Amino acid sequence: MDPQAVFCPNPACPARGQLGKGNIHVHSRQEQRYICDVCDHTFASTKGTVFYRRRLPPETIVKVITLLAYGCPRQAIVAAFQLDERTVKSLEEGAGEHCQRVHALLIEHPRDLGQVQADEIRAKTQGGVLWMAMAVQVCTRLWLGGVLSPSRDMHLIVTLIQKVRCGALCRPLLFCIDGCQTYIGAIHRVFREPIPTGQPGRPPLRPWDGIHIAQVVKQYARKRVVGVSRRVVQGPPAEVDALLHQTQGGGVINTAYIERLNATFRARITALVRRGRALACQVSTLHQAMYLVGTVYNFCAYHKSLRVVVYLPNGRRRWLRRTPAIAAGLTDHRWSVEELLWFRVPPPSWRPPTRRGRPSHAMEALVAQWCA
Ligand SMILES: [Zn+2]
Repeated sequence: MDPQAVFCPNPACPARGQLGKGNIHVHSRQEQRYICDVCDHTFASTKGTVFYRRRLPPETIVKVITLLAYGCPRQAIVAAFQLDERTVKSLEEGAGEHCQRVHALLIEHPRDLGQVQADEIRAKTQGGVLWMAMAVQVCTRLWLGGVLSPSRDMHLIVTLIQKVRCGALCRPLLFCIDGCQTYIGAIHRVFREPIPTGQPGRPPLRPWDGIHIAQVVKQYARKRVVGVSRRVVQGPPAEVDALLHQTQGGGVINTAYIERLNATFRARITALVRRGRALACQVSTLHQAMYLVGTVYNFCAYHKSLRVVVYLPNGRRRWLRRTPAIAAGLTDHRWSVEELLWFRVPPPSWRPPTRRGRPSHAMEALVAQWCA
């Protein structure tokens, strides 16, 4: 047990979410509990992880979730580990929710995205179909998130583009999309900002500079691609070329990167397999499976095309393998699935309650110590 590596998870504690401040001590080694000396609350060492309140040994949980994240059927896990199917389902749900929190903390941060590709996948459910729209940053292959909806409409695409905007800095950005016209309206709607005028009423909205949109439209005959046309919808073609060169080392406008990522998701989520028999029963199941697969893809799997060559002092060269998270500068090593599942997402920093009048001396001391 290492009290330096954990923070107080109590939402009412001024020290919540703060690491290495010396307020956490071991409360009981036998029960694996810590105590926070700011709020005097004790908490389990597994609080905030997938292992919290589970009876199964952590090693079994890690194995089961690793198998689920790589597309092993739930029935196979039930048979191999002699578990109840509801236990496996509950583990998958817990892991999906945990991965969504990790994704929100580490991925949904503004960065220079360069080029983003977006597309949708059709999934079968018991009641009909569901659409899963996802986006990828091309230069790092980082999965930027996904959205589910029963219909492939403006709401689905706008929600996806809003996720991309959460992770975008106001720099030149190229969107490569398929022939779906909804994207163009959604990008125009999301990538704009209010201009403060000081007048009452709704301020005028100004579109972001440097947003480029390119489309790849495929012509089909008898379900086979017979022609591909590429066009620049927004932005000067020379700048689109420069962005393509900067993010994928040249080449033509394409959606190959998102199509490759869709193929990974299709292989790992049974409800997305083409012509398969598996159906997703609930939207939430598919949502959790998507976050589990996406976060394991971002943090735990080396991507062959991301490897770079490094020259050693003795003149020899070595390939350095990278995960999308390493390429995006989010971490310096490949995470194991165990490390991902043990990762504790800190709650937001404590804010003092807003009260009228001068704060008490005790409150001032708390603010000075924990809100610096
Ligand atoms: Zn506390």
